Parts: sequence; structure tokens; C-alpha cells
Amino acid sequence: MTTTNHPKTERTLVVIKPDGIQRSLIGEIIKRYERTGLKLVGVKMFVPSADLVEEHYTLDPEWRRITGEKAIKGYLDKGLTPPTTDPFEVTEKVLKNLIKYLTSGPVIAMVWQGAHVVKIVRKITGGTEPLTSDVGTIRGDFVLDSYQMSDNDTRAVRNLVHASGSPKEAEDEIKHWFSKNELTDYNLVQDKILYDVNLDGLLE
Ligand code: ADP
Ligand code: MG
Repeated sequence: MTTTNHPKTERTLVVIKPDGIQRSLIGEIIKRYERTGLKLVGVKMFVPSADLVEEHYTLDPEWRRITGEKAIKGYLDKGLTPPTTDPFEVTEKVLKNLIKYLTSGPVIAMVWQGAHVVKIVRKITGGTEPLTSDVGTIRGDFVLDSYQMSDNDTRAVRNLVHASGSPKEAEDEIKHWFSKNELTDYNLVQDKILYDVNLDGLLE
């Protein structure tokens, strides 16, 4: 395997949403990704524009359908009746509310790198709805929102972070949020123990 397509070069986008910052969870969130051995290769704080947010969520043409279906399933799994059975109708509202949510204050956008980073970061982040996301995940441990409550209050589900859902999504999202010169290629000392094949440099 050549260096350029080694799994350790995989990258993903993480955004600490305004509630993550307002809850003083910046350090806690970063710690959870950092301690796995992943490498932070880009980071910035700013208030995103409505256009940036709308384009971000609609980069994937399938996002509207998938997100709508996920919300409807969330209701059905709990034995509840969803407000509508049309996934696109769900997402139309979600998108409007998401723009309000993500432009309400500063966010921290980050690019993390490492083997299987997309899957590892999603695992640590947890499922979309905090009510049902696993214990031990960021969304399961630090917040308590639900589709039911957010729908009732006509707002987006507050779940502290965004994390890319697939390597393709990650590639598109990183290009959308960062310019090339905002990302840094560098070696971390720990890369050696994570990825080195022979472990022949440890003993003096
Ligand atoms: P994820 O962030 O887990 O990848 P999605 O891409 O499906 O989830 O949705 C993007 C964001 O939109 C979610 O993180 C959440 O903040 C919000 N959201 C998703 N579905 C709903 C919903 N049915 N009602 C309110 N907000 C939602
Ligand atoms: Mg998503």
C-alpha cells in the first residue's frame, strides 16, 4: 500500500454546533476524538452564514430523503405517529430550522485525520437523536433532545456536533468548509505507535 492511499490519510469534518460551545463542551468534545489517536489537521471558529449551512446540508442529493425517513422511523420505533409520512416534507422544515440553529452563534469547524476516521468519529459522536443515541457517545452523554420535543417547538434537534456520514460526504464537506491552505500535513509522534509496521524504533 502506498503512502498516499493508506487508511491513515482518511479525513472527516466535525463541527461543534452553537449549543456545544454554549454548553462549555469544547474541550470535552475535542478530547473524545483526540484520545483515540486521531490527528487534528484543521480548526477554526466563526459564525457560519445561512448559505454555507444550506449548501452544507444539500451537498448530498440524497440527504433530504434519508433525513426525513430517519425522523419518521424515529417516531414509529417508539410507537408514536409521525407528524407526516412524507420524508421530503419533514426535511423542508428541518433545513429551515437547521439554518437558524447553526447560524445562531459561533461554531468550531475541524478536520480530523486517521484510519477509519469517518466511522470512528460517527461512533464517538452517536446517533442523530440524543434520546436514542448510545450511552458513552457525545450525543448520548451530554444532551437530552428528541424529535418529538424539537418538532413540538419547531426547531432543529440540538445534538452538539456535526460529523460527516461517509468518506464521500467528508470529502465534499471538507472542501466546502476549508480551503487547502487551512489544512496542515504534519507528523504526530504517536503516528509511529499507531501505524508503524515493525516497531523497531522504540528501544535505545
Ligand atoms: P446527522 O447530524 O446525525 O448526520 P442528519 O444529517 O440526518 O443527522 O441531520 C442533520 C442535523 O439536522 C441533525 O444533526 C440534527 O441537528 C438535525 N435534524 C435531523 N433530523 C431532524 C428532525 N427530524 N427534526 C429536527 N432536527 C433534525
Ligand atoms: Mg448527516
